Amino acid sequence: MHKEITAKKLLSHATRPDPWFGIKHSMNIYRGCEHQCIYCDSRSECYGIEDFSNLYIKVNALELLERELFSLRTKGTIGTGAMNDPYTKAEQSLNLTRGALQIIARYRFPVHILTKSNLVLRDLDLLKILSGKYAAVSFTITTAEQKLAAQIEPGAPLPEERFRAIKKLSEAGIYTGIYMMPILPFLEDNEENIKEIVNKAALSGAKYIIPWFGMTLRDRQRGYYYQKLDQLFPGVKRKYINTYGNNYQCAVINAKKLSLLFTRLCREQAIATQLSIYQTKRPAQLPLFEQ
Ligand code: SF4
Repeated sequence: MHKEITAKKLLSHATRPDPWFGIKHSMNIYRGCEHQCIYCDSRSECYGIEDFSNLYIKVNALELLERELFSLRTKGTIGTGAMNDPYTKAEQSLNLTRGALQIIARYRFPVHILTKSNLVLRDLDLLKILSGKYAAVSFTITTAEQKLAAQIEPGAPLPEERFRAIKKLSEAGIYTGIYMMPILPFLEDNEENIKEIVNKAALSGAKYIIPWFGMTLRDRQRGYYYQKLDQLFPGVKRKYINTYGNNYQCAVINAKKLSLLFTRLCREQAIATQLSIYQTKRPAQLPLFEQ
């Protein structure tokens, strides 16, 4: 179900860009997400989204963005996709993310998009313009296995479609790559999965893969995830309880081995394991006495 809301503010600001992704300003046009990944951290109580199955649309998002960018003095990277997918299904007809990219391009801000959807290809024309400043499009891919992906990310386009989108973006000269996280313990933490993701990434022209070998679990997000594990993978919940108890950070048991394998494979395929983030250029200092 879709509901319209009016927001007071659109962007939230970090005191300094985060070291992984270089994001200074975060933008969420939607609340909730139609992709409904069973592991989604946005279900956690701290975010205050009571019914994550509904999509809330910030109907005044573009108006707010225009106003906020007009008065922003620091041109740091605008990130979108951390709390919900900016290319959730409704975006196809609402065009709000597209509208936001148009505004961002006009104000010449760098941008980082995180998504699971090939709908981002619709905005290739804008991404080309944004790339003149800085644009990175990262696709979350946690498994290369289509059947498993359809179970754990039921509303999102399949990984095959995401790899195809990476190929198209890469061929168009857009800086694109993969977030390989979370890696779900006992479901995705096998060598074949890591090998397949890296191989397909290389074939698609991905420039980077950023990994994390594990997941986070807390309060009602854990509750929802465990309920889904019982439905889809009977017996697996018990392994989580025995291994992680109430831990928030749940690294896969063989994280070190998988990490070594991943690093070797990426080196062989010349894929970076870090994002090249947007750097604010310092004004060149004039030599003393030069006018
Ligand atoms: S796409 Fe991202 S935000 Fe949407 S449900 Fe999946 S993990 Fe959550």
